[in-house]
Amino acid sequence: MYLEMNELACGCRRQWKIDVNESIDIFSLAINKIKNLTIVFKKMDDELSGACLKLEKENIIFINSGHRKGRQAFTIAHELYHLKYDKNNFNVCGLNSDDEIEKRADLFASCLLMPHGAIETYKLNNNIEKWDLDSIIDAEQYFQISHQALLWRLRHFLNEITYEQYMIFKEDVIRNASIRGYDLSLYTPYLNKEYLTIGNYIKLTEKAFKNDLISQGRKEELLLDAFREDIVYNLNDDKSF
Ligand SMILES: [Zn+2]
Repeated sequence: MYLEMNELACGCRRQWKIDVNESIDIFSLAINKIKNLTIVFKKMDDELSGACLKLEKENIIFINSGHRKGRQAFTIAHELYHLKYDKNNFNVCGLNSDDEIEKRADLFASCLLMPHGAIETYKLNNNIEKWDLDSIIDAEQYFQISHQALLWRLRHFLNEITYEQYMIFKEDVIRNASIRGYDLSLYTPYLNKEYLTIGNYIKLTEKAFKNDLISQGRKEELLLDAFREDIVYNLNDDKSF
């Protein structure tokens, strides 16, 4: 199943014209490549990672806003599997991870963020013969994948670390990343917001207003429903860069 899902993920990258060895920012890429996609970050029980809903013309991905950015990236990639390849129109993910489709979606996600060939190239370019904590943290930062997802891949699908190493490496990632000079955004929720909507919903609201289909008041209501006070009240600092 691993190579099959890798092939599917690489096919998706080819369709998006993304080189197989490149590291991707799945948050902006998903919105850029899937025109009718809206991503909603919201508070959920910790064991839930996300959900997705396919409507006739719209796709919505829900992400647990309390999880770390690396895990959220993995969840977006996982939900993309459901949107693209699963015939169910609604999925809630995180509880039945032993389910066959869930396993496929997880593998697809792992391979979309970090294709098999990309790991091989990365190892070659960085002279990695055996993984240690330094090379693991460098690699997860490069691919913007969660620490857990990288360890899971190295342990279970590539067999490149032992169970003992897995148990040692999984501890204290935040401290281990910070003493290696990295910022902690990968280990912090995306934009640190409990509720946030990005993607097509925002674009459509603006478009409906521009085309006189909705009033200013209605536009603001719709944006506030989507937790976008920042747009309504112009709270984003656009002056500095
Ligand atoms: Zn799922």
